[in-house]
Amino acid sequence: MKTDINGLENFIETQKVWDIVHRNAHADSARVCDILAKAEEAKGLTLDETACLLQVDDPELNEKIFETAAKVKQAIYGNRVVLFAPLYITNECSNRCAYCGFKDTNTDLVRRTLSPEEIRQEVSILEGIGHKRLLLVYGEHPKFGADWIAETVKTVYETVTEKSGEIRRVNINCAPLDVEGFRTLHDVGIGTYQCFQETYHPQTYTKLHPRGHKKHFLWRLHAMHRAMEAGIDDVGMGTLLGLYDYRFDTIALLTHAQELEKRFGVGPHTLSFPRLEPALNSDIAFNPPYPISDSQFKRLVAVLRLAVPFTGLILSTRENEEMRRQLLDVGVSQLSAGSRTYPGAYSDPNFDRPEVQQFCVGDNRSLDEVIQEIVGHGYVPSWCTACYREGRTGEEFMKLAKNGFIQKFCSPNALLTFSEYLQDYASEKTCVAGHAFIQKEIGKGSDANRKLLVERLTRIEQGERDLYL
Ligand code: SAM
Ligand code: SF4
Repeated sequence: MKTDINGLENFIETQKVWDIVHRNAHADSARVCDILAKAEEAKGLTLDETACLLQVDDPELNEKIFETAAKVKQAIYGNRVVLFAPLYITNECSNRCAYCGFKDTNTDLVRRTLSPEEIRQEVSILEGIGHKRLLLVYGEHPKFGADWIAETVKTVYETVTEKSGEIRRVNINCAPLDVEGFRTLHDVGIGTYQCFQETYHPQTYTKLHPRGHKKHFLWRLHAMHRAMEAGIDDVGMGTLLGLYDYRFDTIALLTHAQELEKRFGVGPHTLSFPRLEPALNSDIAFNPPYPISDSQFKRLVAVLRLAVPFTGLILSTRENEEMRRQLLDVGVSQLSAGSRTYPGAYSDPNFDRPEVQQFCVGDNRSLDEVIQEIVGHGYVPSWCTACYREGRTGEEFMKLAKNGFIQKFCSPNALLTFSEYLQDYASEKTCVAGHAFIQKEIGKGSDANRKLLVERLTRIEQGERDLYL
């Protein structure tokens, strides 16, 4: 294996990944059905099996993939969906990622870094509509080190507003740090550290990242190793779809996940699969060199659900309403809602401004509208953060998840957080639909759990907050 000047090696061999993709193209339907039968047991898939399902063209077999993924999702996650919002802290960036509106050559972009006061203002607005989980997003610039990022996280946690206004989990999407830097973030209590490799194809990566620190492919590839070494148990990985062949990048992404599991006993907590969206002065973002169609995309999400059943799958507001609903059915477990993609956007009355945002948002509905829709489709919105706050993260969380914990605790906890939302933030229409929905859901758990749940729901109605099982 080749190493770079820091002694880092590429543990993902390009040729090996392509071999896996190619030797599993054109599988016959008997093999696909065998793999789906195994997948239904929710024990995950090998890379070969994953590559096979990713390349199924037959529409009937595709339907079977969707049905199996929906069953596995239901068995593990029930009908709960975790909601969050991104919060852009800075769009100042010294990198030149060919696809991003924040790249350094975009001199016409309005650059902004939120002051602590501005962060408090944005957070108050997000709390005021009911958010409890945020993903903080940062450009990469030499003036923003780990200490500064940690301060912004503290500011978010410390911003508490009336009613139940508080952020209970802060996840981070920032450039990779060294181990010391990650320790600093761990010490201020970040949830998941998220960083996308964008593409695992080294030559393509080099071409798309010509300048700035991000040009170092191996430094980024080893980011999760360093984060875990620093004690961050929950890491989130992903690829930016449209940059390179999605079959290659998906098998490489899962190879990366396996590498972490081998080394640290646990793979990624979440996976993301953003598709390229139009961005300011970016040809590649308007015309992706490797576009992925809606049907390929839906199959990819369903196959990921089968390949890594216990890993959270995150969907952002890059996708439109219809696609988000379909992906929720076949595998997605976390959704962003009411998102805006530039610093200060939540306080900006004219927020739909392409000249300042990172990319165009595909779903512009408010959090309340998204909730109405998902409840209408039988899903419980959840802001639960109990596991994280009880220290059930990383390997510990995965062990519990595999023993049916999610159904037993996460589903009632989701109802408790939804009930809080209805009391404090919902529109009248959502309130009516939501209360009726909770009544229906209460009947589903075991007798012991139901009793506890009803008791806690009553306490929430009486004004208590932040209760969980
Ligand atoms: N600057 C940090 C980095 O690059 O890792 C973190 C923030 S960056 C804004 C977060 C992610 O946005 C990137 O990892 C990339 O996958 C995604 N992104 C960039 N440009 C995009 C575009 N045009 N459409 C969709 N996603 C994009
Ligand atoms: Fe900067 Fe991240 Fe955008 Fe690249 S993707 S230009 S590093 S903000």
